[in-house]
Parts: sequence; structure tokens; C-alpha cells
Amino acid sequence: MSRIPVAVLGATGSVGQRFVSLLDGHPWFEVVALAASDRSVGRPYAEACRWILPVPMPAWARGMTLLPPAPEAIQAKIVFSALPSDQALDIEPQFARAGAAVCSNASAYRTAPDVPLLMPEVNAPHIALVREQRQRRGWSGCIVTNPNCTSSGMTVALKALDEAFGVQQVFAVSLQALSGAGYPGVPSLDVADNVIPYIGGEEEKIEWEPRKMLGRLGEAGIELADVRLSAQTNRVAVSDGHTVCLSVGLRASASPEMASAALTAYQAPASARHLPSAPHPVLLVRDEPDRPQPRLDRLTGQGMTTVVGRIRPDPLLSLKLVVLSHNTIRGAAGGSIYNAELLVKENLL
Ligand code: NAP
Repeated sequence: MSRIPVAVLGATGSVGQRFVSLLDGHPWFEVVALAASDRSVGRPYAEACRWILPVPMPAWARGMTLLPPAPEAIQAKIVFSALPSDQALDIEPQFARAGAAVCSNASAYRTAPDVPLLMPEVNAPHIALVREQRQRRGWSGCIVTNPNCTSSGMTVALKALDEAFGVQQVFAVSLQALSGAGYPGVPSLDVADNVIPYIGGEEEKIEWEPRKMLGRLGEAGIELADVRLSAQTNRVAVSDGHTVCLSVGLRASASPEMASAALTAYQAPASARHLPSAPHPVLLVRDEPDRPQPRLDRLTGQGMTTVVGRIRPDPLLSLKLVVLSHNTIRGAAGGSIYNAELLVKENLL
């Protein structure tokens, strides 16, 4: 089978580099175009991109000339977008109108009622919204989004708990890695020896996005899940891997052992289980008292597995636990590639 031509927009950034790395040798996809801003257009990728990953830049990418992120310049069936949100707002619909399936990391369209906010291991059936989106907007392509990098891991854990016991309330405190702020991101003198208790716009996303992903797809679109969330977000001096400390109020009572068993037994919906980027396992529960830790656990399941630990009774709500997820893999590029694989499997290209 010949591979499907794909492009990466925002290819030089923190998430764009992850795309280039994860798409190297992908069994279904072949990168035919890389795009970036006016600062980089016309330059070879190796020269324009300050590569920050601990694996070598793929040889095929080094000499690729960076293109402008415009459908006239790029012919690809799937377009992975790692654009800043304000750019994504205009550029992503141009590609969808031109027939491409846009798999986006940007927040621009996450809240649109006809755009799936997709994590296949959580809500694969929401991909059906693409048909309505095409009908409503007259596009032959589509936009599918993945959630904010902090919403990602915690929503996987909440989905497993919701299925088993029902989730009513969530209090979340995040410790977010530097790569989540893009490159060059937070100035070193601000963050070294420090914790910054503010990430603009982040708390609102974390308090809303899980409700869409845990919601039910009915005749009238997605009905938001009846869960109340409160979030406090912090930037910490960790390179990759977002940690979230959760207190969860459950509808049915559950001991830590019961919660651990439900998290361990959780499986992705059948349609999302056997795709190349599917996480194995979806969730890993660690029993050690001091895990998960970003440096030790972020690459579990090639960075696609959500790692949970410290499950214990909570004096305010029902249970508390710690969730770790790789922000530029499961929370960004890897998640987008998984979404694209589901689109292919469901014949939605
Ligand atoms: P980043 O490191 O700042 O990279 C931004 C990329 O967009 C670069 O390739 C840049 O190209 C390009 N770009 C900037 N302005 C542009 C313009 N006017 N026109 C075309 N391209 C432009 O950001 P990032 O962290 O990779 O984030 C990318 C997107 O993913 C954002 O929407 C972000 O919110 C989202 N996201 C990030 C994470 C994460 O963990 N980092 C997780 C989930 C979602 P140049 O190099 O030429 O400037």
C-alpha cells in the first residue's frame, strides 16, 4: 500500500518537531511538506529549525524546503497543524475547504459544536461529527482537534473512573513542563529555581475540555458531561511531561483498590484499539509511593500511555490520585497522529 501524503504546519516548533520525529517511518503516512512562518519559508528545515529533541532529526527532513502554510503551496490528504491558535483560526479552514483532513493541536476550533475534540481511547465515536461538519460547512475536508496537553492525560483517567463509578466533581492542580510553552517558551531566568502559578488561558480549557470529551454524542450533537471541574495550573522546571494532582468526587463509592482495578482494566473503544499509535496499555497504575515522575515515567508506552499513581482516599471528595502524561507526545503530536489514524480507519479522508 502506498503511504498517504501528509504535511506538518508549524513544523519548526516544539510540537512540530515531535510530528517530524513521530512520523519518521510511520507505516501509513509519508511527510511531503513542512511549513512554518515567513521567518522560515524558503529555508531548508535543518537550517531554520532549532532541533531540541534528544533523537536525531530524520535525514529526509533535513533538506526539505519550508513552505508557507497555504493550500496552494501544499498538496496533502492529511495536514497536521501545530500552528499558534490565532494563525490556525484562518489557515485551518482553508485546508479543510480545499479537501484536507486537518488534525489540529491549536485551540481555535476545540469548542465548535461540529468539531470533534478527540482522544480515540476516550471518545472515538465522536469522530462521527465530521460528517455533520462537512454537511454544515460545505467542506470536502474537515477539522479534528486534540485537547490541551493538560486536559489530555487527566481525561483518560477520568473516563475510566466515570465508566466505573460516575465522576461528579474534579479538583485539578497541574505541574506543567516547559515544552508545553513552545520554543523558546518561558525565559530561563523566570523559571529556574522557581514555580510560576499562572499559565494564561489554561485553567478555562481544563475546566471545559474534559466535559466535551466525556460528553455523549446524540441527535443534537455533543451533550457536555455533567461534571464540575476546578483547576489551578503551574509551570515548573521540567522539560517534558505534565503532572496533574486530582481530587475526584464519584457518584458511587469506590476504594482506592477498586479505582486502581478500574483504571488498569480500562480499554479504548474497539475502533481505536489496533491503530499504529494506540497506547499500550491505555493506563498504567504504578504502586510505588513516589510515582509517577516525569523523568522516569513520561515515555511509558512510547509516550502515549497515561500513568497514574498515589490513589488514596480524599477527605474532601472521594479519591485523590496523580496523573502523568507526555505533553508533546500524548498531549500533542502523538495524539493528533492517533486521530488521523482513526480518520483513515473510519474511511473519513
Ligand atoms: P511553538 O514552539 O511556538 O511553534 C510555533 C510554530 O508555528 C513554529 O513552527 C512557527 O514557525 C510557526 N508559526 C508561528 N507564527 C506563524 C505564522 N504567523 N504563520 C505560520 N506559522 C507560524 O509552539 P508549540 O508549542 O509547538 O505549539 C503549537 C500549537 O500547538 C499551539 O497552538 C499550542 O497551543 C498547541 N499545543 C502545544 C502543546 C505543547 O505541549 N507544546 C500541546 C498541545 C497543544 P517559525 O519557526 O517559522 O516561527
